[in-house]
Amino acid sequence: MADKQISNGTCAYCKETFPKNVIKRHLNTCKERQAAQEAASQKSRTKKERLFHLLVEGRGLPMYWLHLEVPASAKLADLDQYLRDIWLECCGHLSAFRIDKVSYSISPEEDFFPMGFPGGNDPLGGMFPMMPAPLPPPPPELAPLLSMDIEGLFHKYLAEQRAKVGDETAEAFFQAVLKRLIADMTDMLEKTLGAAIMNDLKAELNVDLKKLSAKDMLTRLDALEQEAIQEAESLPPFPLLFDDFREEDMGSALGDVLKVGTKFDHEYDFGSTTELTLKVLSEREGVALGKKKAPVVLLARNEAPEILCEVCGQPATLVCTNCNWGGAAYSNHGAVCKKCAKKHKCGDEMMLPIVNSPRTGVCAYGSEWV
Ligand SMILES: [Zn+2]
Ligand SMILES: [Zn+2]
Ligand SMILES: [Zn+2]
Ligand SMILES: [Zn+2]
Repeated sequence: MADKQISNGTCAYCKETFPKNVIKRHLNTCKERQAAQEAASQKSRTKKERLFHLLVEGRGLPMYWLHLEVPASAKLADLDQYLRDIWLECCGHLSAFRIDKVSYSISPEEDFFPMGFPGGNDPLGGMFPMMPAPLPPPPPELAPLLSMDIEGLFHKYLAEQRAKVGDETAEAFFQAVLKRLIADMTDMLEKTLGAAIMNDLKAELNVDLKKLSAKDMLTRLDALEQEAIQEAESLPPFPLLFDDFREEDMGSALGDVLKVGTKFDHEYDFGSTTELTLKVLSEREGVALGKKKAPVVLLARNEAPEILCEVCGQPATLVCTNCNWGGAAYSNHGAVCKKCAKKHKCGDEMMLPIVNSPRTGVCAYGSEWV
């Protein structure tokens, strides 16, 4: 499996391959990188600034890694965008960094609906318009009552009364019809609603109602109500039910929230989440090599781990999302080579390409239509 392979990676400057554990040392001495830095500082109108050296890894997937250089002035949103571009983006899911006790998330209002939320200004209201809660199904005992055809019965009794009509008044004629109808309904109420109430009481009090006095029953019901109120009051206040991360957007500059040694996390897609761990390895003063709008610079990247065809053991090129839900980086279940893909039972439309990303085979990552 992929995680047993020695994880090699390529230096973005000299394009040479190094094992993961020595590439940091190489990056500090790479002649090509030094030349690039030299060239940047020769340009006119350059100013030196703080530059962070970051290591990014897939959580639980250390064979996927990136060495990045990012100015301390760059925003968390810039880093998020870079990670999306190189590793993550499939369908514009939400994402967040967690640094210490703060969660910095992409503000969906600004980033996903530039024209504002479809449902108005309230983000949740727009996404999830308030739907009336569905009614719970009626207890089965009530089914006969609810399906009682009162109109049908009325017409039936009306026809029967008509057949034997004499010289009674119109009022007496209809009273006779209604009497039968009310008798039917009373009977049905006793049988069905009565049974439903008795069953509820029996379940609640857990006692034979025939042996319980009415007064005792009322005392017990009052006690149960008090218990329920106390239980509700003893729960922690609403927000404490959730973890105590403070929420912010990604407008912060890296230099304001990170320092050398800081370890932090990134999550993309809160459904089929891809989790990354990040660490600030070091910092230097220098001229940034990136652009103002794309300030993140790639220093080195892992080579694609080999994921083998589950059927024949040759390198796999596709993974079936019907067979593998967690992603091909974790397991080669459903991974197939080109040849074996033709014989795979689930069909073409379930296949995603295997790519060099911890998100390979997850959601729609790598498919042509995203
Ligand atoms: Zn190099
Ligand atoms: Zn997706
Ligand atoms: Zn194969
Ligand atoms: Zn399949």
